[in-house]
Order: sequence, then C-alpha cells, then structure tokens
Amino acid sequence: MEGRMQDWPLIVSRVLEYAARWHPTQEIVCRTVEGPVIISSYADLARRARLCALALQCLGIRHGDVVGTLAWNTTRHLESWYGIMGIGAVCHTLNPRLSDSDIAYIADHGQDRIILADTTFLPILGRIWQQLPLLEAVVVLTDRQHMPAPSPDLPPKLLCYEQLLDAATPQLSSFAWPELDENTPCGLCYTSGTTGNPKGVRYSHRSNFLHSFIVTQPDALCIGAENSMLMVVPMFHANSWGVNFAAPMVGCRLVLPGPALDGASMYHMIEAYKVDVTAMVPTVVVGLLQHLAAHNTSLRSLRRLVIGGAAAPRSMIETLERSGIEVRHMWGMTELSPVGSIGLPTGPQLAEGMSDDDLLDRKACQGRPHVLCDMRLVDDSGEVLPHDGSAVGDLQVRGPIVVQQYHRHEQRTVDAERWFSTGDVASIDQHGTMKISDRSKDVVKSGGEWISSIALENTAAGHPKVLEAAVIAIPDERWGERPLLIVVPQPHSGDSEALRLEVLQYMASHPQVAKFARPDDVVVQPEIPHTATGKVSKLTLRKMFEGYKPR
Ligand code: ADP
Repeated sequence: MEGRMQDWPLIVSRVLEYAARWHPTQEIVCRTVEGPVIISSYADLARRARLCALALQCLGIRHGDVVGTLAWNTTRHLESWYGIMGIGAVCHTLNPRLSDSDIAYIADHGQDRIILADTTFLPILGRIWQQLPLLEAVVVLTDRQHMPAPSPDLPPKLLCYEQLLDAATPQLSSFAWPELDENTPCGLCYTSGTTGNPKGVRYSHRSNFLHSFIVTQPDALCIGAENSMLMVVPMFHANSWGVNFAAPMVGCRLVLPGPALDGASMYHMIEAYKVDVTAMVPTVVVGLLQHLAAHNTSLRSLRRLVIGGAAAPRSMIETLERSGIEVRHMWGMTELSPVGSIGLPTGPQLAEGMSDDDLLDRKACQGRPHVLCDMRLVDDSGEVLPHDGSAVGDLQVRGPIVVQQYHRHEQRTVDAERWFSTGDVASIDQHGTMKISDRSKDVVKSGGEWISSIALENTAAGHPKVLEAAVIAIPDERWGERPLLIVVPQPHSGDSEALRLEVLQYMASHPQVAKFARPDDVVVQPEIPHTATGKVSKLTLRKMFEGYKPR
C-alpha cells in the first residue's frame, strides 16, 4: 500500500514561481556592479529567470549541461541561478578569490560549457580561458553600454547578458519550466582543497529545497515575509548558506550587496533598507564592528545575526548581544548544502539556573543538529563516543542534505551507513549541543594532549587590544607540537613588543587556559592571511612560521 498524496517534485523553479505568484511585489534591493542601487521584485526575478533560461537554451544549453558563474551577489546572478537550474542544467559557482590555477582546474573539472561573469572578473577568465577547452562562450552579466571592448586580456567570445535576454523576450509568453525529477543535479560547488585537488559537491533540487526549509525555521534564520535580509555570504561560497532559496520561499525582502562588502557599505545597506536579519563569516563581522566603533554608531534595525563558516569568538557574540543583536552560531560545510547545526536559543528548562556567562558559553558552541542532519562522534578506531560534553572525536554527519559522492569521483565518500567524516574535531553534550574544537589538521598535539586552537583563539580575541587571533602548531622536540599565537592588534594599540608581553601574560593568567595549553609565544602581525572563503589560512601561516623558534 502506498500513501495517497500527490507526488510533487521538490524543484527550485517552484520556489521562484511561488515567490512571484504570492509575493510578487516583495522587493529585491541590489547594489549593482555598475554602481547604482536598483530595486526590483520577485515578479521581476521570475520573469528575468525565465528569459535567462530561454537565452541559455538558445545557446544550446540542455538538461545536465554545466554553466559556470563568476559573480557577486546581485539580482542578475540570482536570476541566472534559477534560469540555469530551472531547465535542468547545473549551476557551477566559481570562487573568484581562488588562485587562477584553482579556478582553471575547477572550471575544467566541472566541464563548464558557458560561464556567466561580472565585468570585475573578466580578467581572470582572460588569463585562464585557454586552459578550458570545453568553454564555448562567456556571458557578461551587464548591459550593452557596459560591455568591455575586445582586448587580448579578455576571453575571445564575450556575449552581452542583457542583449541575450532582449533577444529571448518574444518567446517569453510560451515558456514553462520543465517538470524535473527532484533528484536532478542543480548546483556544483568545489571545496577549497587545502589538501589535494578541490572536490566538487553536486547539490540536487531536492537537497536545496529541503535545506531551504531548515534555513527559514524559527530556530535558524527565522525569516518570513515581514523580514528584510541582507545576503552577505557570497553565492560562490557554499550555496550562500541557502539564503537565495530560503528568502523567496517565504517572501522575505532580499538585500544584495553586490561587490560592496566592506563595513561601511554593509552598514549603509542595513540602515537604508531596514535589514533586520543577516548572516556572515566572523571576518566580515569584524569589518562591520570596526566601522561601528570608528563612527561611534550602531545598527538600528538589525535584530538577528547568524555567524558561521568559522568559529565566532565568544567576545564577538558578547559585543553584539550587548548591543541588542541576537547572535546564532551556525556550523556547516560545502559538503552539506551547507548548514548542519545552529546555536538555537536555549529553551527555558536549560536556561534555568544558568548565569549570563554560562549562556554565552553555550552560544559560543556550534549549536544543535537540525532534523535533516544526523550527527555522531567517533574515535580514531571508529568507536562511537558518548554525548557527554567531554568526549572529543571526529564529527560525522549523514542525511539528505549531506554529500554522498563528489562530482566525477568513482568512489563514494561515505561509509556503508552513509556517515560522512567532516574532518572536524568536536564534542556533543547531553543536550545535543555540539562544540567544534578544531579541524583535525589544525589541532595542536602536545605531549599526548590535544590543545584546541579555536579555544585559544577565542580567549585571545577577548583581549581588548586584539582584533584577530590565530593559533598554529609549531614542532617541538620535547612535546611534539606547541601552540604559537599570532594576533592582529586593534587600531592604536601601541607598541608591538609591549602588546606581545601583555597578551602572553593575559593568556597565562586566563582561567580558561590550562597550563599545558598556554601558547609558547605570541607574534604581533599587521594582518593574518585569509583563504578564499574568508577564513584564517592556517596553511599559509604554517608556511610563514616554518622553523620559527619561540622567544
Ligand atoms: P573550506 O574548506 O573552503 O573552508 P567550507 O566552507 O566547506 O570550506 O568549510 C567548512 C569548515 O569550516 C568546517 O568543516 C569547519 O571546520 C569550519 N566551520 C564552519 N562553521 C564553523 C563554526 N561555526 N565554528 C568552527 N568552525 C566552523
């Protein structure tokens, strides 16, 4: 016997058409690459996504073909996502912050036939197009007026996006989205590949659709038609945390920052468009907080800020919450669509008897798994560890939003029970709150003990003169490895040597830093290198400090 309900494939064109039909006038505000802010609506988005689909079909794109994008968070980029995915093609987001050789590898491995690119990123394609034998054309996401003149520094076949859309307009009235199987692939995103070549994660319509429900939930972003959301996380980074599907799914106003991701620009977008919810990685939060501090101002409309992608320091959470912004700490990865757990507000039973300090400690953890992400911890021999808050092991996940096999890889990347090893080291307490202590490759192994680099960074970030902190392991003859702390000072923090001694002393006397975990030395640097996804690049730091001897 089967259920007697309708089979209605969960495909992303439904999300778009829902928004266009039931929230047609809801606004999409976009800072364009050309400069001005343009306001459109969900009805406009759907119309232009259909035009984009028609234009791609005219260029020969069919079901299963891969179309790359190299673009900022803009309306054109958003509508092209829906246009590509809606006809059963695969939207492959390329991260422009990667090196040329990585982008070339990823676009070639992804088998991109066409790339839609902002004018900003055309020089990248000019340098690598010869390494992309399958690439037929580059569609420039602009109008005729802003099309660049042909040049040896640019790829040879450049087409104008707006011209293609104009040409498709006569066919618009007869266009309908195809009814696709919900397991059709629709997105492709490569992990940064800190070890080996980058690996592609192929999302399906179903995984994106289901994941969007999670993102909108009250305990996650908690968005609806009355909210105004700034979509900061780039669409080329881990599916922009699903916001591009979640917002239209509930008719939320969407504010797109385009290329302007500095603190001042974000502040102005938040103020001007009454943004009440947003999500970002900690480094971007740092830029925003610096702007607020430098101008002695605050964010009047912002109510909720989801921070993820890297550990949000406790001090950052405290600063934001003190100014009336509720912080939710999110953990995720490209292999998961990407949200896996969220720092849910603590229920009354749990909160009872907890001091503000305890509550803040919980917020600094990475939250509980959601209903589509099962989680467990295992030790080195694969034994399952208890959820007692103290056992620390490899975090494994499984569920319908978790990768099973990388793009064009022969082998599955999960075990027989579909557990995927995240490479993160974590604990889970009896309430299900998960705490990441490190990536397995970043943990400091000292004399048989594991020292959490995240815990040390968190503590160091609490020092009033520290803007950013990173801990790496340096080899040590006696202990195997010892922690080295690298800090970037806040502006006007005075002499570096005095600060070094001050931070060393602060770490040595801090109650949360065990004696064996105290950093052997502190290095004060004007900046810390970041990866293409805005996280501290420990790989680069390890290279920079190769052979470093603590003073
Ligand atoms: P990349 O490998 O390019 O950084 P991802 O964005 O997929 O790609 O990174 C996922 C990793 O980021 C996770 O495995 C974890 O190590 C880290 N991460 C994500 N969110 C958090 C968080 N809230 N706290 C600590 N680490 C996090």
